[in-house]
Amino acid sequence: MKIVMLGTGAALPDPDRCQTSILVTLDSGEHYLLDCGHGATRQMMRANVSPADVKRIFLTHLHHDHIAELPFLLISAWMLNTVGAPLVVGPAGTSRFVGHLFEGGAFDVDFRARSHYRARQENTEAMRPDVREYTSGGIIHEDEDVRITAVEVDHIEPDIARCYGFRIEAEGKVVAFSGDSKPCPNLAVLARDADLLIHECTFSEEFMEHRRRSGVGTVAHTSPLELGSLAASANVKQLIATHIGHVDSLSPVLKRAAGKHLPVEQMGPHQLDAMVRDIRSRYAGPVRIAHDLMRIDI
Ligand SMILES: [Zn+2]
Ligand SMILES: [Zn+2]
Repeated sequence: MKIVMLGTGAALPDPDRCQTSILVTLDSGEHYLLDCGHGATRQMMRANVSPADVKRIFLTHLHHDHIAELPFLLISAWMLNTVGAPLVVGPAGTSRFVGHLFEGGAFDVDFRARSHYRARQENTEAMRPDVREYTSGGIIHEDEDVRITAVEVDHIEPDIARCYGFRIEAEGKVVAFSGDSKPCPNLAVLARDADLLIHECTFSEEFMEHRRRSGVGTVAHTSPLELGSLAASANVKQLIATHIGHVDSLSPVLKRAAGKHLPVEQMGPHQLDAMVRDIRSRYAGPVRIAHDLMRIDI
């Protein structure tokens, strides 16, 4: 199976990272998209995958950096002559989100204007996704090739929304993806003995400390030390840290504009060195920091 990290960034626009999106492609050629943050469609094109061929999309939670690209991806697939309705599997709220996108929704004019043409009329089902909501953990998708289990994690206040990570079993391997989460017991269930754990690691310890001290925003994420402990105790075979929260950015715009959220004077690539050092202090297996279009074959 091939995994391409389409986007490895977090909630702010970042010139060097798209938002979270991971494409899992089985040896059979079937694609499974995990989250659909901004930039996913273009990154697919760069990874030599047609958006028209990506017909199964799984969402961990409804923060914009995990779903913002969904309308563009589905419209692109429509225009690239996809066949059939795409499957969109997501937590409670997904039906409402997707239901307000196309006919009668935000892109209603685009839909009506474009479907005026015969070529687009031939596959308007592409704009009527098969949305399936899951409201608790458990198996959310199973076909002859893959089983995907959602595990509830701890990220958004539960009275606002519930958030999940995914455990994907295919080709005799287990790939675990945390979604976004602070440490919680279920992450050990998610990651147990995984061949590959793709886990959010949004901030370095230094950034986490700044956010705790300043009281800015939430600390609903996992620090490098916490991630190292999890990977070791869950016995994962290899680890990829992703959802990098701009800690490594040299962008003058981010440095000027993100000061309310981040200690901008401490931003830079050296933060990634500190993150790897801290993960490694607790986990002896292979560790990599994700970058956009990183490819992993397992
Ligand atoms: Zn996120
Ligand atoms: Zn989030």
